[in-house]
Amino acid sequence: MPSNPVLVVHGGAWAIPDDMVDAHLSGVRNALAAGWRVLERGGSSLDAVEEAVVVMEDDETFDAGRGSFLNRDGKVQMDALIMDGGTLRAGGVGCVERLRNPVRAARKILSESPHVYFVAEGAERFAAEHGIPLCKNEDLIIPREVERLREYQSHLEEHRADLFAPTISHDTVGAVALDRDGNTAAATSTGGTLDKAPGRLGDSSLIGCGCYANNESGAASTTGWGEPIMKLVLAKWAADRVESGNMPEWVAQEAMNYLKQRLNGHGGIILLDATGRFGIAHNTPRMAWAFQNTQAQEAGIQRNK
Ligand code: ASP
Repeated sequence: MPSNPVLVVHGGAWAIPDDMVDAHLSGVRNALAAGWRVLERGGSSLDAVEEAVVVMEDDETFDAGRGSFLNRDGKVQMDALIMDGGTLRAGGVGCVERLRNPVRAARKILSESPHVYFVAEGAERFAAEHGIPLCKNEDLIIPREVERLREYQSHLEEHRADLFAPTISHDTVGAVALDRDGNTAAATSTGGTLDKAPGRLGDSSLIGCGCYANNESGAASTTGWGEPIMKLVLAKWAADRVESGNMPEWVAQEAMNYLKQRLNGHGGIILLDATGRFGIAHNTPRMAWAFQNTQAQEAGIQRNK
């Protein structure tokens, strides 16, 4: 069914400090512009979410691609998922260390593999065999993150008490889109949580947790403390409620309430249905988001609060 295209992107939900607001806003705006270029010329929602996420993976502001948080060993270890709401095909990578753009590898898995997930070296090998150049892990590490990890590890006891406070940075990136053919898609990419144990997989690359898309229900991308989000299979939880006829705007807020009430979790969600209605919600002080449809374009740092 022909539709008016829609794109919604996010760049994490947490207490984004004042001096980082501009970088977050320009990051989500650039991602929006890249994804919208695809939709505007009649391209697919899948291409649009991929291009939007690549821009944020390349932007060191965010916890994705270069500039990601470091794990306990001082390495970047990333997860990503992309999903097509028309066919339900999906591609995910987990714990990859040598890919500048994990979402590109996820897209190759979706398009060129009968499987859904590849992890660690196997994912990198798959990417290389499909024409994606590998980088060194050091190429993804920036001084800001070396310092952040050093500071964190030197105050471990203090941080442990406050480990899951909403002030802990959550700069995962994601996008959901509807294209002219009426197809939805979603993508999410992350470096995960700061000082995570090597091999820890978060919610972002898990189907239905950090990302989900189904034309019959909704397309969602989440960010936040991953363990509660995955226990609630939150992206699918939200999509199911859209399928029952509820407005995405209301469902997105309900998802955040549920996350808080059920597991004291925190984060943010973007949610879109196949008619182009969408919701953006977070239970953290701020969330970086942007949307565009044929009537309007907007970016912000606070919503539904
Ligand atoms: N959800 C991500 C994770 O737990 C982190 C984030 O959104 O910042 O890996």
